[in-house]
Amino acid sequence: MAGAGPTAVLSSGKKMPLLGLGTWQSTSEQVINAVKIAIDAGYRHIDTAWVYGNEKDVGQAIKEKIAEGKIKREDVFVTTKLFSTFQRPEHVRDAMMQSLDGLGLDYVDLYLIHSPQGLKYGSNPFQHSGDVEDLFDEVDYIDTWKAMESLADEGLAKSIGVSNFNTQQLERLLQNCRIKPAVNQVELHPYLAQQQLVDFCKRNDILVTAYSGLGAPARPRRAQSGEEEPVLMEDPTVVEIGKKYGKSAAQVLIRYHLDRGVSVIPKSVTPSRIQANFDVMDFSLSKEDLTSLGQLDRKLRYLGANLFTTHKFFPF
Ligand code: NDP
Repeated sequence: MAGAGPTAVLSSGKKMPLLGLGTWQSTSEQVINAVKIAIDAGYRHIDTAWVYGNEKDVGQAIKEKIAEGKIKREDVFVTTKLFSTFQRPEHVRDAMMQSLDGLGLDYVDLYLIHSPQGLKYGSNPFQHSGDVEDLFDEVDYIDTWKAMESLADEGLAKSIGVSNFNTQQLERLLQNCRIKPAVNQVELHPYLAQQQLVDFCKRNDILVTAYSGLGAPARPRRAQSGEEEPVLMEDPTVVEIGKKYGKSAAQVLIRYHLDRGVSVIPKSVTPSRIQANFDVMDFSLSKEDLTSLGQLDRKLRYLGANLFTTHKFFPF
């Protein structure tokens, strides 16, 4: 994975580039274009999910770059996620096959349980108008995990992991697994530093990946309600630190994650931003600047805090 930027060795023994491209909330055309530009810019890690509805686009872009001779399949680390409606063990393999089929790949590098909270098979939480609890499935993520382990045994997923798990859920999973989760993907940024969770993961050799690592300025809740929440990329501390290094707020935030030993997957469909977000290999933040960013923590969760709060596996 030459040129991929810093990498981590996962507990599975596989290498994962720490900086990847996020692909949530983008049109088909945007994703194809974004992934191609990202690969040209040096990214070797792409993050998608079944529920984003764009695995086909991610796959097409990768296929085009392979056909061009720019990369080989093994040069790019592809992550996708098992959606909550497939959480019963008997649906896990079928969900994996759907994702592989969409991506046009024989294997993914990382397959994550998208959330500890199972939802009823066949339900559509995005078009549900009744009582939200009608969507809930009691399935235990420990049982889901056993099916995930079988996918790893088969080589369909080179590494397996989780997303949106809290410390207690990880602890319980670690006590009941054969293969350890290699990654926990969670919301993480200076306003939500989650130091305890990050420390727990480090101690247990679980790599943390930060989502909404730039503060998710386009998150649906904000767009829908016009709600006023602090904008991380406009925070004076972040902006001032950027001025010192001649870097943008986004670049400072990306570097903050990398310097914390955390993976980060900034999403952009804007060519100049995709390129700029990768242009962070020529500096690192001083201890003092990392401390200043650490002091911004206000336990502000931009995403998901108000979803499914009565589910028995609600993690936040
Ligand atoms: P991010 O924090 O990555 O923010 C993305 C937004 O920032 C986009 O609106 C983008 O705009 C804008 N942006 C990107 N770069 C810059 C820049 N340099 N300057 C200014 N604005 C910029 O949010 P996401 O919530 O998308 O998180 C990243 C990825 O994490 C997702 O795409 C997805 O892959 C994953 N994720 C996983 C979740 C999970 O439950 N596991 C939940 C949420 C996200 P534009 O595209 O217009 O350039």
